[in-house]
Amino acid sequence: MLYRELAPYLKEKYGARTQRISLAYFKTCPNRDGTVGVGGCTFCEESGSGFANRFKAMSVEEQMINGIEHAKKRYKAKKFIAYFQSFTNTYAPLDELNGVYRSAILENVVALDISTRPDAFPCEIAELLKDIRDEYDIDIFVEFGLESVNENTLHNVNRGHSVAEFVDAVRCAKNFDFEVIAHVILDFPYDTIYDVIGCSKLLSAVEINGVKMHSLYISPGTQMALDYKGGKLKPLSADEYVHRAATFLSYLDPKIVVHRLISTPPSNALWSVGLDAISAKKKIEGELKKNGKVQGSDFNYLNGASWRKKFSKS
Ligand code: SF4
Repeated sequence: MLYRELAPYLKEKYGARTQRISLAYFKTCPNRDGTVGVGGCTFCEESGSGFANRFKAMSVEEQMINGIEHAKKRYKAKKFIAYFQSFTNTYAPLDELNGVYRSAILENVVALDISTRPDAFPCEIAELLKDIRDEYDIDIFVEFGLESVNENTLHNVNRGHSVAEFVDAVRCAKNFDFEVIAHVILDFPYDTIYDVIGCSKLLSAVEINGVKMHSLYISPGTQMALDYKGGKLKPLSADEYVHRAATFLSYLDPKIVVHRLISTPPSNALWSVGLDAISAKKKIEGELKKNGKVQGSDFNYLNGASWRKKFSKS
């Protein structure tokens, strides 16, 4: 096994094919409405990073019913995860969150998966999710966008939070025994390979449970599109992405589940690395094999590594 893949992990955990059902409900984020910033992250399209508002007119429950039907037919799935994907899915009053989250828990739903910003996850929300978990006997996954560990990059892309908020949110979620998944973009041109390695080490040190690796893509209407057209942003090559992804994996704690290896850009993207999920998988696996690496080959830096190297025989 070159890295820990998601599908077998979910199958083992839930004893059946388990499919995420993507949901669109929340419509903004603190980095757009002026609370933290305006205009959003420079790579974020108006629809909230990645997920078209296909289901705008449908309630969460209707989206779940539709999604479950589709997942049963297409993937023969038997268990389902309600995945709140677009925008910041904790950015609403507690009463509203309570009602919305509960409306997604239908038969055979085994988990709520909430994607959010690390600066929008206070203890009150963790308490609410804990209550829901205990009442319905389901799991809670929380997904935090970190994107980069380089503070200059976070500033450049107008992220509106630093690494500290991420560490704080992860600590809170882990205190409640939620599964924590981090999102990272590996090929920011402002980052170097050392930022990628540092990111992998940080995620391992804070003991996240899963990671979604993303490649950059440039959508129309974003600040990045303007920078790209104006020659201020020079994206990296597909080969560089593959190199960074394989390096990232080699430093990653082998326990961490890899939820994705690359982004799926929208069809109207102005630029992307040009690899689909299948070819990216092939190339990243090829790069690992070429270098004799697997996930965790270089995971040897925690728990007093230099002391152990010098003084411990085990
Ligand atoms: S935090 Fe997420 S939804 Fe908000 S602007 Fe950034 S990428 Fe978009």
